[in-house]
Amino acid sequence: MARFLITSALPYINGIKHLGNLAGSMLPADVHARFRRAQGHEVLYICATDEHGTPAELAAAEAGQDVRAYCDEQHVIQKQAGEQFGLSWDWFGRSSNPPNHRLTQHFCEVLETNGLIEERVDQMVYSVDDRRFLPDRYVQGICPHCQFPQARGDQCDNCGRLLDPTDLIEPYSTVSGSRNIEIRDTRHLYVLQTKLQDRIRAWVDAKSANWPNLTKGIAYKYLDEGLIDRGITRDLSWGIPVTRDGFPRPGFEDKVFYVWFDAPIEYIGATVEWSEATGGDWKRWWRLDEGAEDVRYVQVMGKDNVAFHTVTFPSTILGSGEPWKTVDDLKAFNWLNWYGGKFSTSNKRGVFMDQALELLPPDYWRWYLTAYAPEGSDTAFTWEQFQSAVNVDLANVLGNFVNRILKFTESRFEGKVPVGGQPGELERKLYADVSEALAEATAMFDAMEYRKSAQAIRRIWVLGNEYLTEAAPWTAFKTDPERAGVIVRTGLNLVGLFAAISQPIIPFAAQKIGAAVGLEGDLPWPSADGEAELNRLTPGAPISVPEVLFAKIDDDRVAEWAERFGGAEGA
Ligand SMILES: [Zn+2]
Repeated sequence: MARFLITSALPYINGIKHLGNLAGSMLPADVHARFRRAQGHEVLYICATDEHGTPAELAAAEAGQDVRAYCDEQHVIQKQAGEQFGLSWDWFGRSSNPPNHRLTQHFCEVLETNGLIEERVDQMVYSVDDRRFLPDRYVQGICPHCQFPQARGDQCDNCGRLLDPTDLIEPYSTVSGSRNIEIRDTRHLYVLQTKLQDRIRAWVDAKSANWPNLTKGIAYKYLDEGLIDRGITRDLSWGIPVTRDGFPRPGFEDKVFYVWFDAPIEYIGATVEWSEATGGDWKRWWRLDEGAEDVRYVQVMGKDNVAFHTVTFPSTILGSGEPWKTVDDLKAFNWLNWYGGKFSTSNKRGVFMDQALELLPPDYWRWYLTAYAPEGSDTAFTWEQFQSAVNVDLANVLGNFVNRILKFTESRFEGKVPVGGQPGELERKLYADVSEALAEATAMFDAMEYRKSAQAIRRIWVLGNEYLTEAAPWTAFKTDPERAGVIVRTGLNLVGLFAAISQPIIPFAAQKIGAAVGLEGDLPWPSADGEAELNRLTPGAPISVPEVLFAKIDDDRVAEWAERFGGAEGA
């Protein structure tokens, strides 16, 4: 028994997430949480909406809503969509909630006490007509690198370069469109990451043995280039107020913390929310001086978030000098691409979580997005590959096996697990093959190798199919009913085993499959003892035949979806 704290990158508040977000953070975190719970470990799986920053304000303005009302509504929408997808969060919090305010202000104050915060005067774009500064996306103009006319203050969407608002040529306010722009002085707080460089590197050296190459590569790239001091406040009203000794910080009354400072702190904030709501003890998970020494902390995210989690968030935590838990396993994903481009929330490109659920149940997507996870490199979503994953893996290999053996049991064995007979050579071979495959599956889930986990599970499904084809109970039944009984009993135990191993990836179908052979609720993760695992069901116990588990997707539907979502070969 161990304790696993699991967090996925926080989904941003500006609208429901697309399948790329799901595939690269929330879903794999959920699969791992379910696997660890099934193993009997204590798991706390935490997520939250990331609600501050200019995109939230701009999305609210576009929706004609007050930003708080907008966030209230979007939080509920994202929570519901996640739950419908089976994301088994222990808590889904909000970075705008009071615990994150308190913690963010605390971290800034303690960093300042430790000499790691400095007030600096910055030059910022100021809109005279709007009577406000225009940080990040509040200002647009011509990109100084590629001349793209609608580059945003924080980044150019055309060439991808990170920008400073003062870099833009012919800037204008996105609030009013006004070009009456000045550059004015404004004071901001900086975290002195240059002073933390050695401590961060020592920490990465100590931790990164467990990290995949993608994570390690990004962390060392930033360290080797040299850390820079980082502004952590913005001239905005929506966000966490800047304080000193618990009071508004003089000169910072119209400023808030930068969203990237407070968002990762919400991992802790959301755990405090969980503890306030449930009576659980959040310090046991986060404070090394209050019982968190034996926690294994797993973070899951897309590659664009890795620098924030290997350098900037650790600089907050380590700079505090306080005994906070830091990440142990950091799993990063590449991009799931959408027909030659990226999925994009702001450009509404691709399939979004709510739309996906209109088309098909969550397990279809969960299986595809895990089996074809963008793990080793960027991966392209295609409707054809999705169709094949559903029709071949789920409908043929898994669904048909389950339905065939259950229907045969119903018609030939009175709907009960057959009694009597002894396993023979075929069963002994199956036990050995399944033992080996189970050990492999467990190792792959343990290592958070998602594609290989799905492959290992599919291999066990295939072993079951091969066994049933070779043993042919329908033929044996005519000449040797007792032998047919042994085969059917073994087949029904395979059904139970399929339910247990499939649970982390396709939890809804796994529940139905388990229930068909009398295994209700959450099933324990199997041992690597094939013989024991294939003799779990009680002879004589009743079984039931579920409705069709997975419907095949025909070519007409694929064509219709490709048309509707703009995904087509060559598009
Ligand atoms: Zn550009």
